[in-house]
Amino acid sequence: ATPAALVAGTGAAARAGILVKDIEALERAAAVDTVVFDKTGTLTEGRPALTEAVPLDPALDRDTLLRLAAAVQTGSEHPLAAAVLAAVPQVALAPVADFRALVGRGVVGTVEGRRVAIGNRDLMAELGIDLAAASPVLDRIEAEARTAVVVAADGRAIGVLGIADPLRPESAAAVALLAARGVRAEMLTGDSEAVAAKVAGALGLSAYRASVKPADKSGALAALKAAGRTPAMVGDGINDAPALAAAEVGIALGTGADVAVEAAPVTLMRADPRLVAAALDISRRTVRKIR
Ligand code: ADP
Ligand code: MG
Repeated sequence: ATPAALVAGTGAAARAGILVKDIEALERAAAVDTVVFDKTGTLTEGRPALTEAVPLDPALDRDTLLRLAAAVQTGSEHPLAAAVLAAVPQVALAPVADFRALVGRGVVGTVEGRRVAIGNRDLMAELGIDLAAASPVLDRIEAEARTAVVVAADGRAIGVLGIADPLRPESAAAVALLAARGVRAEMLTGDSEAVAAKVAGALGLSAYRASVKPADKSGALAALKAAGRTPAMVGDGINDAPALAAAEVGIALGTGADVAVEAAPVTLMRADPRLVAAALDISRRTVRKIR
């Protein structure tokens, strides 16, 4: 039979804005010693905005670069695509043909007869595009903790876009609350090493992994378990669902993708990462009552 304490615990959690779908998860959460956060949309607002569009060719103006990039991004559902699209008037964008999204790397498509690619260094390396002119711009933007992507056309880098996704104001406190309870806070992200390092430093994270392909997020959770840790995973994205399921306790942001919420036994009803520490507190108190 389910101990009355667990039922009371789920009630206390609900009052705090934490929905527990699986009562056993509340018991398992008491043993959690590591909390792995997704970055985009979990530690950050997840509403990225374009901050710069830098043409690499003096003959190319900023508007033309942006319109070309936006035309390709009409095919993408990635938050980065929304940031580019929000920066240009939606009317009269050229249509995109042969569009493809390359998971964790970027997008490609044909616009006005030009083969355009937008994405990270990995994508450009795959396409054999020379980054000599783009690199200093990428480095500068990433050093300021913003995401930088290259726009290439017909095999040449023609511009760099900078995109900022501000940290949630509660994220640093969320990490500090966990540290005060002896719980490590870590981060997994598909974003670059430079951006991840900046975010980790700003929040005081114990560890992070950058450039993690969506398919590798659940493997990272399994590796932590194999190393003897008891990890919770906190995420909001479609990409996070397998990792939420692989964790000892999956915690989804209620504002996130439906698949993430379905994959996790615990949902935070407010997009406030400090609720993770609150959930662990309720779990620990509940378990003490059982034993
Ligand atoms: P995350 O959401 O954690 O950043 P993703 O796997 O979705 O991870 O994306 C990883 C990287 O792939 C992004 O940081 C970006 O460099 C590149 N990327 C993905 N989709 C796009 C896109 N639509 N436009 C440009 N770059 C993209
Ligand atoms: Mg996310």
